[in-house]
Amino acid sequence: MKTLIYMFVFSFVLVISACGDDSSPESTAKIDPNHFHPKGKAPSKYTIAKQQQLRKTLPLSDKKDFEEQEKGFIAAPEYKQIMAEKGHVAWDMGKYEFLLEGKDFDTIHPSLQRQAILNMNYGLYEVIPGIYQVRGYDLSNISFIKGDTGWIIFDPLAAKETAAAALKFINEQLGERPVVAVVYSHSHLDHFGGVRGVVDEADVKSGKVQIIAPVEFMDHAIAENIYAGNAMSRRMFYQYGVLLNASPYGHVDQSIGKNVAAGNAGLIPPTRYIEKPIEELTIDGVRMIFQNTPNTEAPAEMNTYFPDMKAFWAAENITGTIHNIYTLRGALVRDALAWSKYINEALYGFGQEAEVMFASHSWPRWGNDRIQEVMRAQRDMYGHLNNQVLHLANRGITINEIHNVYEVPKSLQQEWYARGYHGSFEHNSRAVINRYLGYWDANPTTLIPLSPSDSAPLYVEMMGGADKIIAKGTTLYNEGKYRHAQEILNKLVYAEPQNQQAKDLLADSFEQFGYQQESPSVRNSFLAAALELRSGIPEGESAHSAGPDMIRAMSTELYLDFLGIRMDSQKADGMEFKINLSTPDNGEKFVLEMSNGTLTNITGYQVDDADLTITITRADLESVMMGIITFDELIASGKAQLEGDREAYEQLKTTLVQFEPGFEMMPGTKVVETKSDMNTFEQAEPAVIGAE
Ligand SMILES: [Zn+2]
Repeated sequence: MKTLIYMFVFSFVLVISACGDDSSPESTAKIDPNHFHPKGKAPSKYTIAKQQQLRKTLPLSDKKDFEEQEKGFIAAPEYKQIMAEKGHVAWDMGKYEFLLEGKDFDTIHPSLQRQAILNMNYGLYEVIPGIYQVRGYDLSNISFIKGDTGWIIFDPLAAKETAAAALKFINEQLGERPVVAVVYSHSHLDHFGGVRGVVDEADVKSGKVQIIAPVEFMDHAIAENIYAGNAMSRRMFYQYGVLLNASPYGHVDQSIGKNVAAGNAGLIPPTRYIEKPIEELTIDGVRMIFQNTPNTEAPAEMNTYFPDMKAFWAAENITGTIHNIYTLRGALVRDALAWSKYINEALYGFGQEAEVMFASHSWPRWGNDRIQEVMRAQRDMYGHLNNQVLHLANRGITINEIHNVYEVPKSLQQEWYARGYHGSFEHNSRAVINRYLGYWDANPTTLIPLSPSDSAPLYVEMMGGADKIIAKGTTLYNEGKYRHAQEILNKLVYAEPQNQQAKDLLADSFEQFGYQQESPSVRNSFLAAALELRSGIPEGESAHSAGPDMIRAMSTELYLDFLGIRMDSQKADGMEFKINLSTPDNGEKFVLEMSNGTLTNITGYQVDDADLTITITRADLESVMMGIITFDELIASGKAQLEGDREAYEQLKTTLVQFEPGFEMMPGTKVVETKSDMNTFEQAEPAVIGAE
C-alpha cells in the first residue's frame, strides 16, 4: 500500500447522482446552468435584499485598495494556467474571470465579491525600485528583493511549478539574475512549498544559496499537521471548498488569495535561523532586520524591515483581512493578544519611518501615514477581539452566544482591511473564549451531552415527527430564517440520515446562508456541506502525494507519536510488550511500550527487558514512512534487524489503522464504501495543509 499524503487539493471523480425529483421549496426557481449542483438554487428574495442593502451601506466608494492593488504593475503573462509536473492543471486564474465582468452577483456578499476582485491581481508588480512581487500565481505572493548580484526571494509559494513560473517570468521581464537567498517568513506551506522551483538543493548544501527562517521553523512546518492530519484534510473540503466549482454559486475566493496551487510541494531545510527577537543580517548587500513574531499567524513567524529602503515586510501578520484566530480546517487556537502586541512592536520599531509595507498576501501600502493607519487598525482589531471577547466572557457571555453579541467597533467596520474575510468575527470570537475558557459554556446540560444522533430522535418525536419538521422548516426557509430552519432540520437529518427531503431542505438553507457570508471560509463550508447533503460525499483519489521532503522533515519521535494515534486501542486489548528501536545512522534510540491499550515512546532510552530490539537506519525508516517499501520487505532484505520476539512487531502491525479521508461530516452523506482497515506502518501523512 503506497502512502497517500493528502494535500490541499484533491482531484475527485464526482459521482453525483443527478436525482431529478426536487421537492424542496423554490424548485421552480430558475437555476443557472453554471450552478455547481443540479439541485442548486438561485438566491432567494431575502438573500437578494440583503446583498442590495449591503451595497448601500458598505464603504464601496473607498477605492484606495484598488489603487494600491494596481500600483506598480509591470506585466502579466499570456497564460492563465500553470501545469503541474504530473500533467494536471496546478493553477488556473482563468476560471475566476467571471469576477471581472463588472456584474454584481446576488449569490456573493458584496464585500466578498470586492475582495475576490482585488485578488484577481495577476503578474509582476514593482513595490519600489529593487522590490518586486509576482501575484496571482498561488495563494500567496512571491517577493523578490534585488541584491548586488541576484535575487533574495521571500516566500516561494506553495508549489514548485508556480514558484518556477514566477521566477521565470520576473527574469524574462527584468533580466536574468541568480537566486542568492530564500527567506521563509513562517511555517505554513504556501510560504515554503515551492522552494524547489527557485533553488537547487545542491546550491543550498554548498553554501551558494542561503535559506533563512524564524527559530523553530522546522518543528512547526510539519508538526502542526501530523496528529490530526487526516481530520484537517477532510475539513479542508469545507473551508477551501475543494469540490466547489469556481462560479458565482460556488468558489469565488479564499480571502488571502484565490486558492492553493495543486502542484509539487517540497521543503529544503533552512541553513540559517533567526533566533533572537530582533536580528540584523546583510545578504548580497541588502540590510535586513528580522523581527521574530512567534505565536501570531503561525507558531514560527517573522517580519523583516529593510532600513535602507524604508520597506517593511509584514509576513502574514498584516494582510487585507482579519486573519484566523481559529482556522476552520482545524488547528490550535491562536493568540490574538500576542498578534496585536507584535504588530504594535513593529509599528513602534519600524512603522514610524517605513515608506512602504508589503506582505505575503494582499497588496502593499505606500506612504507612512497609510502604513501607520493600517498597522494601527490591525493592531486594534486583534487587540479588540481579544479584550472585548474576554470582557464579555467576564460578564457571563458564553462560547455559545459570543458570536451573536461581540461587535466590531464602528470605526473598524468601515475599513476594508479590518473585515472578516479569512477569519470571520463569528468564528474568531468563539475562538478567544475557547482559548481561555475552553469549549464548555458552564451549563451542565452541555457538559456531557448526548451525541447528536442520540438526542435527535427525541427532538423529532417531541416535535411531532418528520412531516411537521419539514413543514415548519419549509416555512422558515420561505421566510428567509435560515439559521432557524437549520436548527430543526439538522435534528431531523441526524434522526433520519436517509431522509433525502430533509437533507435537501437543509442543503437549500445552507446554500442561501452561504451566499450571504462575507468570509469565504464560512461560505465554502456551508456550500460544501450543501453539496454533500444533496448527493453524498464524492468518491475520490488523491492526485498528489507529497514529495519526500515532508517525510524527511518529520522526526522519528513524531512518526512514533503518530503510530500511537493510528493504533486502534480495541485491537490492542491485552497486548503488552516493549520494543527497543535504534537508528544507528543518526544515533537515535527509543523505547516503545504497549500497555493498557496505549502505545508510548520515549527518546534516548533502551531497556534491558525489551521483548524485541529493532535496528534500522533512519534513511530506511523514511522509505517505510513514504510507502516506498514495507517494513516486512526491509526485514526480509536484512535492512531492518529484529532481535528477540518478533511477535511484538506482528502484534503492533495488527493494531494499525490506515485513516481514510472521506469520513462523513454531515449525517447520511456517505455513499462510498470505505476500504477495510489496512495494517501497515506506512501511513505517515503529514497532511501539509497549514497554509493559513
Ligand atoms: Zn499564507
